[in-house]
Amino acid sequence: MLVEKTVHFYAAHSVSAFGIEHKCARLHGHTYTLTVWVETSLENPVEFSKVEQAILCIVNKFDHANLNDHVELIRGEPTVERLVWFIANKLRESIPVKRVRLQETQSSAVVLEVN
Ligand SMILES: [Zn+2]
Repeated sequence: MLVEKTVHFYAAHSVSAFGIEHKCARLHGHTYTLTVWVETSLENPVEFSKVEQAILCIVNKFDHANLNDHVELIRGEPTVERLVWFIANKLRESIPVKRVRLQETQSSAVVLEVN
């Protein structure tokens, strides 16, 4: 049984992973939609606000920021893959996270299953 929680944050980035001529290399912004699934049970229900607080503790630093200012924190260029990896690993320190989905555009997202 999983609890699902979604938050949004707004951030800019530039990514040169696809080449410096690629449109992603220019500074641009996204409305990120972050959805987190956390293990819950009948015996030990998870408090939704606790999940939200754990998420916001991590992503508040990214909200209305240039993600390229956080390359040391996320260990490289702020691709959606690195962001979801960083967020999932930070979350597992405080909550029993099972899956993290970070949506960068209406049609594009990365999902990470946490073992
Ligand atoms: Zn982008």
